[in-house]
Amino acid sequence: MVSNLLTKPATVGALACQRNSFMFNGFKTTVISCEPNKGKQNDSTKFLVELQDTIFFPEGGGQPSDTGFLIYSNDSIPVSYVSRVGLHAKHHVGQYIEPGTTVEAEIDQRKRIDYMQQHTGQHLLSAILESEPYELGTLSWSMGGTLSSKKPTLEINDYFYIELPRKLTTQEIEELSYKLNNLTSVNPLQIYVVERRADTHGNGKTSKIPVDYDLEKGILRTVHIGSMDSNPCCGTHLQNTGQIGSILLSPNQTNVRRLNSRLYFMCGNRVVNYGMAVNRLIGSTKNVLSCSESEIPEKVERQRDLIQKSSKREQFWIKELASYESNILLNNVKENGKTFLLRDEYGVLELLPQVFKEFTNKLGDATDEYLLVLCGREKSSETGSVLVVSESGDKISSIASSLSSVVPTLRGGGSKKGGKWQGKIVKFTEGYWNSVKRYLETEF
Ligand SMILES: [Zn+2]
Repeated sequence: MVSNLLTKPATVGALACQRNSFMFNGFKTTVISCEPNKGKQNDSTKFLVELQDTIFFPEGGGQPSDTGFLIYSNDSIPVSYVSRVGLHAKHHVGQYIEPGTTVEAEIDQRKRIDYMQQHTGQHLLSAILESEPYELGTLSWSMGGTLSSKKPTLEINDYFYIELPRKLTTQEIEELSYKLNNLTSVNPLQIYVVERRADTHGNGKTSKIPVDYDLEKGILRTVHIGSMDSNPCCGTHLQNTGQIGSILLSPNQTNVRRLNSRLYFMCGNRVVNYGMAVNRLIGSTKNVLSCSESEIPEKVERQRDLIQKSSKREQFWIKELASYESNILLNNVKENGKTFLLRDEYGVLELLPQVFKEFTNKLGDATDEYLLVLCGREKSSETGSVLVVSESGDKISSIASSLSSVVPTLRGGGSKKGGKWQGKIVKFTEGYWNSVKRYLETEF
């Protein structure tokens, strides 16, 4: 009997994590198998361990897997992911563990509680929306992202959402929030799970069961929230809705698939974290704008108008300056066949193309041979650009190669038959600027 127990692991559906989702550590079990991971190449975990039973939840039913450690003889082996293969839970680890070894499982408790708060919260929200007066079925849902070092702040749209057949009104959101938060505080409902084996499945809802889950050998789990809701679900759940803590619904919904709508929400500690993140954001915005919280929208609007106005003014003066400069350049070209323009500050983005445009428009058929070099720099970013314009490809390549020898960070390209050659300069230092100036003023 003992050896039979050792070789026959608990099946997904009846794992320890599913029977008692509040077991976070100190769970002793035995390694049944440890096989090399032949999965995806970018999966760095080397071995897949199956345990006789486990408190690690394998990813499934929309709930992410747990992470944690397998501990034995003073060694803590990280478990980065747990997958479900048919009825088996596979723990992804970086080193080999001999089958037969007794290990102690420990999961990331914070993460698990977070997942349970979101998942149970979703069941509760969907149950209320399905009932009167809303009668809105949940068409799909996603648990969204979690805060990490890579993504320290989440936008509301990164959080959990459910897809509904229509948008909710602001009033509905307010009523719904009141109802939900009543059930997560003063009037909590008990949550319990009913396990049924194949012979007693009867006519229960099985449409949500994954196709590779063997119902004949497996177990069907139904999660009940008081008498309000019962749903087939393999996930780990809280013991009562009071443990959800609080639920925040976002009034900002997005439209999907024409009339459908995504309702964003978050539960438990995420509400607190989000509140703090938003508070920090408002605090820093207030400081930048030197105003109170309620004045932020008005202040931002005023800044936007000011920027639009000054940008229009800037465009006007750039055009004026370009027209003025192009007249001078044109006269020089008519007299000497060649000329240049140097602009050491604010000379890159807008001005040079505008001068080029004005110059070529005015040039017309006025002269057969011409050579024009336009060079500008942005002092603050030490970047620059160069335009070489001529009827002759030879002239262009000769000037481009001379300039490249003066400024080695110049990169560019253009027409070999004449026309326009365009280049960019990175690390355009004071020294390089003076070299270009010297070259154009003396050798050009
Ligand atoms: Zn569920």
